[in-house]
Order: sequence, then structure tokens, then C-alpha cells
Amino acid sequence: MNETGEPMGTGGVAALVAALPDPTVILDSQGLVLHANRAAFSLVDTLTPGQPLTHSLRSSALLEALTQTLSDGQSRRAAYETRGTTPRQFEAVVAAIAGGGPERATLLVQIRDLTREQQVERMRADFVANASHELRTPLASLTGFIDTLQGAARDDEQARTQFLDLMQAQAARMKRLIDDLLSLSRIEINEHLKPAAEVELAATVRQAADLLRPEAEKTGTPLHLDLATALPIMGAREELVQVFYNLIENALKYGASPRGIEIVARREGDQAVVSVTDHGPGIAAIHIPRLTERFYRVSVQDSRSRGGTGLGLAIVKHILNRHEARLAITSTVGQGTTCRVAFPAAE
Ligand code: ADP
Repeated sequence: MNETGEPMGTGGVAALVAALPDPTVILDSQGLVLHANRAAFSLVDTLTPGQPLTHSLRSSALLEALTQTLSDGQSRRAAYETRGTTPRQFEAVVAAIAGGGPERATLLVQIRDLTREQQVERMRADFVANASHELRTPLASLTGFIDTLQGAARDDEQARTQFLDLMQAQAARMKRLIDDLLSLSRIEINEHLKPAAEVELAATVRQAADLLRPEAEKTGTPLHLDLATALPIMGAREELVQVFYNLIENALKYGASPRGIEIVARREGDQAVVSVTDHGPGIAAIHIPRLTERFYRVSVQDSRSRGGTGLGLAIVKHILNRHEARLAITSTVGQGTTCRVAFPAAE
């Protein structure tokens, strides 16, 4: 309706539809397209004014919703999926326009792309299932040891000592997992806040390396540091230490070798770059794009036996997102792996 209480004229409806951000189509009482906005044309490229909407959007759910809304005037929703190599999920809201008016605008159809929303929902569900499964495994083994200690091994001193050691290892694994899950959620909460303090990059790398020196000595893997000074970046100090800790720890866990690990920090153009290179067995190319996914491991057994949780590189990725930095992993099987992190230098 316009100011005088008359139904809106042709130009009015077209202008209104054009101003809406979501794909929107106006139909007449026969279901023929009267107006559609740019978003609708780019979503449904065969959309043609004067033609039935259902010719270009073939969905029985949508057809049924249009037919019912035309007959009873009630708004309703219809979900549909487009086929193809990557199916996408949509929801169409069908609403009756009261009054119709001179241009016979009768129905409004607004389309929402639910693909991303449903993907996020699925990822969240997968994550909860994975985390529960990872926690249940050590818990089951703890319960098993408790049963044995209460039963068959009740009076066996030697078995008791041995089982308590194993139980301690399982409890430590649960603790590592919970610590990593909490780190991940804390980092995610802050991910959109850009760090406001200036940090000297080399100092954070050195701190991480120092924390891991005992581990390096234990595995006979020298840490070779070559850190340029004066590499200021905008950063959160503790988070950066965690990034380099996780990368150097992985190099020690999977790539221990008497040839050692090279840890280099230097300026490259307008970027500050840190790289961690090991001379371990390397990683096959098919795994590399997935390593930063939560719980993705080349070998679950191998990671577990080394105290891994499968969350280390996911944590690295989230911290680096916050710092607008990029991680690149390159590896040659049989020769070793390099993890390279590039930060925009502070202004
Ligand atoms: P985890 O806790 O299992 O170490 P991460 O997310 O840190 O989890 O790493 C994921 C997987 O990537 C590891 O399980 C391992 O298979 C592989 N990986 C990471 N760093 C290296 C490396 N330097 N050499 C070989 N494999 C590696």
C-alpha cells in the first residue's frame, strides 16, 4: 500500500524487490514471474519474467507450497536441494501479498541458502562426536584397570604398580585432550579480535624452543636456532608461544633425528617469517591439506603413542587466523617437513 492507501503500483513493487538483499521473486496468481531481484537472477540463472517460477526452480516441495498458498493465503516454507557435483540446500519462504494490486502481485518467494549453515551444524555435531569418542577411549581403559585391580589383581603387588602406571598414562592423555579442547574454544572466542600489542617475534620462538629443550635432548635431536632480531608483529604473546611450541613439538614427536631441527625467523619483504624444518619421515602429499582439521592424524595410533591429541595444528591454525598469518606445510617423504608461518609485519 502507498501513502494514500492504494495498492502499490508496478514501479513500487519492483523497486521494493530490487532493494532486498536475499533472492526474491514476485509471482502473479498463476505462479508466473512478475519481478525478481538481481540476487534471484544470479541464484537461478534460468529465471524468466512471464514464465512459471517452477520451470526454472524444479522442486515438488516448492510447487506444492505455491499451490497451497495461492489457495489459502497462508505463508509457508519449502525446503529443497539442488543437485550437481556439490548439492546445495535452500529454503523458500512463500507469502501471499494482500490486495494484489494493479500489477497482480500475488505471491512473494524469498530464498535462503542454508548450505553453509547446515555444513557448520554438521561440523559441530562431528566435533562433539569425535571429542566424546577420544575421551571415551582412555576412560574405558581406566575403567578396565579399576575392574582388574578390584578383582583378579587385588592382591598382586607387582600388577598393581604396573596398572597404576598405565592408569596414570591414560589420565594424562585425558588431561591433554581436555586442555587442548579448552585452548581451542578460548582461541575461537577471541578469534575475531585482532591483537593490539606489539610483540617481538623471535622472543616468542626462543621461549617455545627453550620449553622444549629437555624433550629435544631426550630424543637426541639438537635444535638449531637462527633468529633475526627486530621482527615486531602485532600479536598475543602467549598464543604465539603456543604456535611455535606446537610446531617444534610436532617436529620432535614425528621427526626426531640426530640431524636436528632448524628453526629460522627472518624478514622476507614486508613479512616476518618463521620456519621449523625437521629431517623426519615426512608427510605424504594427500594428507597435507587436512592436517589442520580437528582430530585429523596421518596415523591415529602413531599420534596416540606419542601423546598426540590431533588438535595441535587446529590450535595453530586458529591462532594464526587471529594474527592474519598463514601456515604452509611442505614435506618430502623420506626427507622431512617444513612448517612455515608468515606474519604481516607491524606498521
Ligand atoms: P597430534 O596431536 O596428533 O600431533 P597435530 O594436529 O599437531 O596433532 O598434527 C596432526 C598430524 O599431522 C599428526 O598426527 C601427524 O600425523 C602429522 N604431523 C604433524 N607434524 C608433523 C611432522 N613434523 N612430521 C610428520 N608428521 C607430522
